[in-house]
Amino acid sequence: MTAQGLTTIADRVRAQGLRLTGQRKIITRILEEAADHPDVEELHRRAIAIDPKIALSTVYRTVRLLSEAGIVERHEFTDGRARYETADHEHHDHLIDLRSGRVIEFHSPEIEVLQAKIAAELGYRITGHRLQLFCLPLEETVRPAKPKRAP
Ligand SMILES: [Zn+2]
Repeated sequence: MTAQGLTTIADRVRAQGLRLTGQRKIITRILEEAADHPDVEELHRRAIAIDPKIALSTVYRTVRLLSEAGIVERHEFTDGRARYETADHEHHDHLIDLRSGRVIEFHSPEIEVLQAKIAAELGYRITGHRLQLFCLPLEETVRPAKPKRAP
């Protein structure tokens, strides 16, 4: 349960006085159930599996609305595509596998402390941050060169 006691996206949307139509309700449920960070096209694919009449533009409008209301978080990892996840989770950072595009969530108390220390030394208090690590798998970083064939 969140601090406000509002458990679902639908609750929080209503608390902000936003209207939740049937199609928006489907999209919010998909976001809630997503364990990954889907982009709009992926959200649309999942939405039309439930209601084939949902237009891509409806998905675009809904995520923009939810993101402006602070209900979902928008990320841009590598390909310039916006990806979304609900904003009610514990704070975490992201590691992006550049080979597979996989996104791994992590949380490091050491990094949190270090960031606060750096900000304080510069005379600031952190109100939020984003950290993205762009990575290649260790075992694939060094690729053996192809052996040259003798002429
Ligand atoms: Zn995440």
